[in-house]
Amino acid sequence: MGLVYWIHCNETNQNYIGSTTYSLNKRINEHIKESYKYSSKPIIDRNNYSVSILEDNINKDILKVREQFYMDCCDNLLNIYRANGVDEVKKKKTLAKAYHNYWINHKEEINKKKGIKITCECGSVYRKSGKSQHIKTKKHLDFVAS
Ligand SMILES: [Zn+2]
Repeated sequence: MGLVYWIHCNETNQNYIGSTTYSLNKRINEHIKESYKYSSKPIIDRNNYSVSILEDNINKDILKVREQFYMDCCDNLLNIYRANGVDEVKKKKTLAKAYHNYWINHKEEINKKKGIKITCECGSVYRKSGKSQHIKTKKHLDFVAS
């Protein structure tokens, strides 16, 4: 059994919705002691908030669904993640952006690495980026087979 709780900032009207299968006190203590771990941090840091139980005695199997239900109803929410885990699309977009930025910043370095010439045991010279193509060439295959 679990419950869905609501942390509300009395100053800014920001909200945080969470769920737990422990007692509410234990869960709120985690928010306080390890505030850096949670997106509720701004509310906890201001230390002027109220905590309420939105629903109690929820079956564990539907706890995350109920949490998400309240998150969808609530405005001014601080929660970063959806109740059922990280939003996969959002995660992929963030990663793609990070890779793109890395490429922009290291473009020359990456191209240089790709352009390094390698002399193969078969006697051919190929660019590093062309290795997968080279190892399929007749000359290379003949060398490997001999
Ligand atoms: Zn070769």
